[in-house]
Amino acid sequence: MLAGTIGTIRLFGVPVRLHFTFLLLLVFLLFIGIGQRQSGWLSVVYVLALFGSVLLHELGHAVVGRRYGIRTLEIVMFPIGGVARLERPPKAREELWIALAGPLVNLVLAAAILGALWRGSGLLPFEALAVPNDQNLAQRIAVGNLILAGFNLLPAYPMDGGRILRSALARFQNEDTATETAAKAGRAMAVLMGLGGLLTSNFFLLFVAFFVYLGAAQEAMTIRGRVLSAGFPVRAAMVTDFRTLGHGDTIREAGNLLLATTQQDFPVMHGGQTLGILTRNRLLRALMTEGPEAYVAGAMDRDFVRLSPDTELTDALPLMASAGHCALVMEGEHLVGLLTPENISEFLMIRQISRKRERPEGAAW
Ligand SMILES: [Zn+2]
Repeated sequence: MLAGTIGTIRLFGVPVRLHFTFLLLLVFLLFIGIGQRQSGWLSVVYVLALFGSVLLHELGHAVVGRRYGIRTLEIVMFPIGGVARLERPPKAREELWIALAGPLVNLVLAAAILGALWRGSGLLPFEALAVPNDQNLAQRIAVGNLILAGFNLLPAYPMDGGRILRSALARFQNEDTATETAAKAGRAMAVLMGLGGLLTSNFFLLFVAFFVYLGAAQEAMTIRGRVLSAGFPVRAAMVTDFRTLGHGDTIREAGNLLLATTQQDFPVMHGGQTLGILTRNRLLRALMTEGPEAYVAGAMDRDFVRLSPDTELTDALPLMASAGHCALVMEGEHLVGLLTPENISEFLMIRQISRKRERPEGAAW
C-alpha cells in the first residue's frame, strides 16, 4: 500500500484509495467554487461530478487492462489524476489501448453531455462559462472532462499521453530505452510546466508539474532497476546471513532481536519448516495490542512472498514492490535467504558501479 493514502472504496472489485493531496485539491476546488454566483450544493455537485469523471477515467483503464488479463491491484487518486497500479507491466501494444481508454471515457462523457445540452436547451457561448453559475453547471462539467482528456494526453510520462508515446517508441527501440525516453520527455515537460507556473504565478500548474516530475523520476528509477538486474537470479542479491525466530519465541525476544540486528523482518521457523514471517510492523502492533509475553506464532504473517533462488531478479522486483516487505527465498521447503528492498538497492548500486568500470573479464557481478 502506498504511503499517505486514506480511505478505500471498492469499485468493480478494484480498491480505490485517495492520496491525501487529492483531498487538498477537493478542498481547494470547493473553496474557489463557493461564494460565487452558484448555490452551495451545486458547487458540491460540480466537484463530485469531476471526481466521478476521474474515477470513470481510471475504470476505463482497468476494464481494458482486464481484457488483456491484467488485474488492477489498486487505483490511487492523485491531484493530477488517478494512478492505476497493474499486476504486471503491459506489453507495448496492450499499453496503447489501456492508456487510450481513460481519456476516451472523458471524451465520451463530454460528448454525451454536450450532445444532450445541444438538443435540449442549447449550448452557451464559451465566454458564458467563465463565471460559474447554476445555468452553466452541466456545460462546465463537460468542459472539465475535455480538459481532463487533453491534459492526460500530454506526452509526459507517467501520464496517459506519455504511455502512448512510449508504446509508439517501443515499435522502433527496445522497451526499456523507450520508457527512458518517455520518462525524460515527462521530466522535461514537468520542468516547462513548472516554469510556466512560476512565470504566470499559476500555483496549480506548479503543483501539477511537481507531481509529473516525481512520477517520471520514479518510473525512470524502476526501469534502471530492471536494466541493472536483468539476467541475474534472486540468489545473486539475497541476504544469506540472517537470523530467524522459533514459533515458540515471545514478542519480547523478537523485539530484542530487532534491536540487536539490522534485520527488520524475521522468518518464523518450527524445526526446519518455515511457518511465516514476522515483519517489524506486525511485531510492533503485537507489542501494542498483546504485550511482550505473546508468542510470535500469533502475530506472524503466514501469507509471505516465496521466491526460488533461480527466479529472475527482474521478475522478483515487482512482487517485492507490491508486498512491501521482504521475501523469503526457498529451495523447495528449505529457507536459503531473504530478499529485502535494502539489499536489492545495494545490489543495484554495486551493479551500476561495476558496469561503469566495464570489466569484461567477468567479475562475480
Ligand atoms: Zn489515465
